Amino acid sequence: MTDSTPHRTPLTLLGLGAMGTALARTWLAAGHPLTVWNRTAARAEALAAEGARIAPTAARAVAASDLVVLCLLDDASVEDALAGADLTGKDLVNLTTGTPAQARARAAWAQERGARFLDGGIMAVPPMIGVPESGGYVFYSGSRAAFDARHGTLAVPTGARYVGEDAGFAALQDVALLSAMTGMFAGLSHAFALVRDEDIDLLEFAPVLVEWLVAMAPAAHSTAEQLTSGDYTADVASNLAMMVSGNTTLVRTAEEQGVSGELLLPFMDLMARRLRDGHGDESATGVIELLRR
Ligand code: NDP
Repeated sequence: MTDSTPHRTPLTLLGLGAMGTALARTWLAAGHPLTVWNRTAARAEALAAEGARIAPTAARAVAASDLVVLCLLDDASVEDALAGADLTGKDLVNLTTGTPAQARARAAWAQERGARFLDGGIMAVPPMIGVPESGGYVFYSGSRAAFDARHGTLAVPTGARYVGEDAGFAALQDVALLSAMTGMFAGLSHAFALVRDEDIDLLEFAPVLVEWLVAMAPAAHSTAEQLTSGDYTADVASNLAMMVSGNTTLVRTAEEQGVSGELLLPFMDLMARRLRDGHGDESATGVIELLRR
């Protein structure tokens, strides 16, 4: 199971949704012999015209190549698709989004069936696939040997970042990034809600907002340093006491503008709790202590 000719390695792809189809096209364009299977066979037809071999069943698709990539809706669809497939000696690469626990269970499941397993978390949307300058990539975790052997092929559609033997780590880092993004979307939504009904050009406001978020994003570095050292009071530019006081202005402004504070208040409540616990000289990092269950 090696990948000595990375640009021509045959592979199988199960799942031709929006993401699977984008991945398939990049492997075909790079000259990889590609066998595909999709539950709804009609979705494979366009790819046949581009050179893909269509397998009539998932089991036959798996049998066609040593390297088998899955890009299905969820973990249940992986279970459905692979029921009855012989995985002995395969390198199974699961790009289906799931939780870390699902990835770890799937890794053990694959190993019991004689396959090496990699889980992948795709940090890209389909238009970014096959576009190196888009900055997209996939987190991989699981078998290091499989990653080393298959890196050349896996890196064809988009960047490939290996994050550890623990099969759950790719999903964990994927979800951590998506969770941070969700918080950013919440902040964006609140900011636009504040200004949208005023005589403010939203198209001019947007780049100002982007500039501010980019300037604030390096807070991730100081948060990591403080969590690593355990000292949340080191190099604090804006302390918790000041920020909680400032939050009053944010809440009052929302009220003045007729905007609900419900996107901001949960985080502000945690900040206030940490302050009440006597940590006014910290940065906001101490809030993370309150999130442990
Ligand atoms: P789509 O909804 O476009 O495609 C879903 C695929 O899963 C189809 O091939 C579908 O087959 C198949 N499928 C669903 N249920 C089953 C089942 N029970 N058995 C077999 N096959 C099944 O999703 P995407 O292609 O967009 O996403 C695929 C994966 O990639 C997901 O896990 C998603 O989270 C992840 N991803 C997607 C991104 C995106 O922006 N699109 C970004 C990052 C990750 P059928 O055609 O028959 O319905």
